[in-house]
This record gives sequence, structure tokens and C-alpha cells, in this order.
Amino acid sequence: MLRVVPENSGQLVPLDRVVPGNEGPASLFGLDAAALAGVLAEEGEPSWRADQIVEAIYRQYITEISSITTLSLDLRRKLAARGWRIGRPEITKAFQSADGTERDLIHCPGPKAETVEAVWMPDGDDGEAGDGSNDESGAGLEIKGRRRATICVSSQVGCAVNCQFCLTAKLGLQRNLTAGEIAGQVVAVLDRHAVRVGRDRVNLVFMGMGEPFLNYDNFMAAVRLLVHEVGLSPQRMTVSTSGIVPGLERFAEEPPDLRPKLAISLNAPNDEIRAEIMPINRKWPISSVIDAVRRVPLRPRERITFEYVLLGGVTDRPEHAREVARLVRRTGLPAKVNLIAWNPGPDFHYSTPKPETAEQFQKALTAEGIPTYIRQPRGRDIFAACGQLKRTVEA
Ligand code: SAH
Ligand code: SF4
Repeated sequence: MLRVVPENSGQLVPLDRVVPGNEGPASLFGLDAAALAGVLAEEGEPSWRADQIVEAIYRQYITEISSITTLSLDLRRKLAARGWRIGRPEITKAFQSADGTERDLIHCPGPKAETVEAVWMPDGDDGEAGDGSNDESGAGLEIKGRRRATICVSSQVGCAVNCQFCLTAKLGLQRNLTAGEIAGQVVAVLDRHAVRVGRDRVNLVFMGMGEPFLNYDNFMAAVRLLVHEVGLSPQRMTVSTSGIVPGLERFAEEPPDLRPKLAISLNAPNDEIRAEIMPINRKWPISSVIDAVRRVPLRPRERITFEYVLLGGVTDRPEHAREVARLVRRTGLPAKVNLIAWNPGPDFHYSTPKPETAEQFQKALTAEGIPTYIRQPRGRDIFAACGQLKRTVEA
């Protein structure tokens, strides 16, 4: 029988080549209040009108200029005549999972139109609650009339990092998403589920397709839009990185109250195994990643999350658990570990460990005093689980 080997096995791709974005003309969505004020100034309009546009496109989820009734008909016509449109990404297809998870295909319009994926998970996602806790309830979707959910969004179309166990890697990197496209996925999903920001409890994880720290400026600009214009709390956001050291160094310079929490895809107990499954480790080994993480000033009670994909026979043995415990303890960081049983995909030669194996791994870590959670796979049946996102053809 033929053994299936991923076509991209082991190759280290250049990460610093210039990656195209989708800088198209005339989308209001993606502009912050100050930039919108600039657009209006050109029309001879006062800057407070920018707040009306912010309210309309980021809070009321309006997608057509003609529907912004707080603006005069004349101004709406003028903006449209100048070629402006709202240009928010739109959900074109939604796949429903038996567990309530929904995978949304989102069309990003523009000269380099693409489809990306975001995931809506009612009731948080257990291990990564977005607030640093292991989400205390597990109760239904509503608590005192407040809904709760986690949204997972993409930062790039495809990914250049080439982790051997990840489906997104097989796409290669197609292009960066703009800030408006990253924030737009979130707003499109909020809109679809009629989320009341400020009342419903929404966590956001930048854990979809792509490596946020290789699209740093757009990713952080999206965070600022989501905080300032959409009204989401950065304390309920988590960004996951495969360990891009220059990105971590920039992240360390961000104001702590204006950045998401940090998750590091550790995924292996040592450099040897990590380099095998994550070629990026040859460029930035574990110690260099940890050194960079140490320079990130933490908020009170904030913890760093280490994500750890359990690959059957490769990273899930008892000796691996002991090594991970030592490694995490030696960092001296306030940390927790999220275990993720590998989610399968076509053409991989890995296997998913048994639930008992994951539980033993968890026990070994908690016995060493490390808070460790098993992230329950969400939406595996619709290919929405971690590492399963892949620009699906819209059929
Ligand atoms: N690129 C970033 C964020 C997106 S991946 C990163 O790698 O951190 C989000 C998480 O999914 C990462 O921790 C990654 O290790 C994990 N992952 C990737 N493929 C997976 C798979 N097939 N099964 C389970 N987890 C996977
Ligand atoms: Fe990219 Fe993350 Fe997948 Fe690695 S795990 S290939 S960094 S999306």
C-alpha cells in the first residue's frame, strides 16, 4: 500500500517575501473613526458624521450605504457616486454541526476576492474560553438572557508556516487578509447571529486560517477596530501563534490593555520533535520563543496558554507529558496548557489518540501543578475543528 506523505513535507518556506493583500478602492468597512472623518472632510462634512457611520457599519451591521438613514440622502448619494461602498465581507455559506458549531464561508470582495472561513461556537469552546478561565459553566447557551459564544477567525488565506499536521498548511499562503477583512469576518458572524455586543458574551480567537504574526500590522489593526469601533473587549480575545519571534517582539510593545491574550502553539516536548512537525522550529526554536514571550508584559492574573496538539505516538506518550511539564515549569511564566487531540484530515499519516491517552497526559501535567485542559473538538463533522479550515469550494 502506498504511504501518503504530505506533499509539503519538511520544507521551510521563506516567510519574509512580500505577500499581497487586497487593497481595493473605496471600502468604508475597515476604516476607523479617524479615517472615516478624513473621507467625510473631503466631502465638506463635519467629523461627527464619522461616528454615525461607525455606529451604522460596526454596531448596527448595516451593509449598504443607502441604508444608513442617519446620513442625509444627499450625502449617501454623494458617497456612492464617489465610488464608496461599505464592502464588508459577507457569509455565503454556512455549515451546521451536530454540536451547534457553525462554519461560515465568508466572501471578501475586492480586486483579489477570496473566500475565508470563520467558526461560530455557541457556549464558548471549553479549553480556550477567551477569558483565561476554563469557562466555568458548561451550562446552556443562555445565562440570564445573555448568550455566550466563541468566534474563531482567519488572519490569512492559507498559511506559509507548513506545520505537518495542519490542513491549512496544504493551501500554502495565498494572501494576507486586510484589517477590514479580519474584523469583517467577526462582524459578519455577529450580524448573522444577531449578537448584542456589550450584553452577550462573545469570545474571539484568532485561530482560524493563517499565522496572525506573519500579518502583524493588519491583525493588530483589526484588533483595534474590534475594540474601538465594534466594542469587543480585548480581554476576551486570544491570538495563537506558531512562535514567530519578531511578531512576539512587536506584541510585547503593545499596550497590555489593548491586545489579545497570547497562546503559543508548543505542540511538542522538545526541539527535535517540534522541528519535525513544525519546520518553523528550525528558525525559531522553543527557547527563542519562550524568551520572546517572557518580554510580553502581562495583565494582572493573565496567563499564557500553551497549545499542544496530541499526535498519536508522536507527541502523546507519558514521557512527553513529563518533558512538557518540566519545560512549562522552567519558563517561570504563569501558564496553562490546552491539549488538542489531533483533528484528522485527508492525506495525513498521523493518528488521533484515544480519549484515555489525552486524559492521562492531562493528569500527568496537572500532577505537576500545571493547569491543563482538554479542548473538546468542535464541529469535526463539518471540518470546522482546529487545523481543519481550508478554503472550501463553495458547492
Ligand atoms: N497559525 C496559528 C493559529 C491557527 S492554528 C497557530 O498555529 O498557532 C490554531 C491551533 O490549531 C494551533 O495551536 C495549531 O497547532 C492547531 N492545529 C493545527 N492543525 C490541527 C489539527 N489537525 N488538529 C488539532 N489542532 C490543530
Ligand atoms: Fe499555519 Fe497555524 Fe496551520 Fe501551522 S498550525 S500551518 S501556523 S495555521
